[in-house]
Amino acid sequence: MRLELKQVWANPGRPVLFSGEEDLKAVRWYEETLALEGPVEADGSAFYQEDRIYLFLHVRGRIHRSCSRCLADILEHFDKDEFLEVPIDEVPPGMQYLELRPYIENGVRLAIERKPLCRPDCKGICPHCGANLNREDHRPGCKAVEKEVDPRWAKLKELLASQ
Ligand SMILES: [Zn+2]
Ligand SMILES: [Zn+2]
Repeated sequence: MRLELKQVWANPGRPVLFSGEEDLKAVRWYEETLALEGPVEADGSAFYQEDRIYLFLHVRGRIHRSCSRCLADILEHFDKDEFLEVPIDEVPPGMQYLELRPYIENGVRLAIERKPLCRPDCKGICPHCGANLNREDHRPGCKAVEKEVDPRWAKLKELLASQ
């Protein structure tokens, strides 16, 4: 998506509206590449003031994630407003248009969950036995279970529960 800058330069401080879709296939997210499901809807406004352009950017779309606890596939919906600044060295006054794609990509990164969950109460994968606790119990001999039956731990749990 391109934002024509003629109106932006001509009217400092006055927001110029834009809207459209950006066909991002994927975004980089730390060590991962996350695939988008369909285009990202992007709209907002831009204005020029002092030495930079300010962008109010609203992004909406769907992205493939995996649950941060159990690794199940999730289709996350995002829908968020961002406020971004465009440094003047990226858009010198007089430039005809601004390519919004990198800002939309950034907007998506800011909009998605840091630690997505397949459901709010996902029990995750046991770090000791590898059991997916949403579907199965700890496997025989799992350390996590031994800890639970430790009498001191049971006592502490009682105390915490009674508070
Ligand atoms: Zn999960
Ligand atoms: Zn376990």
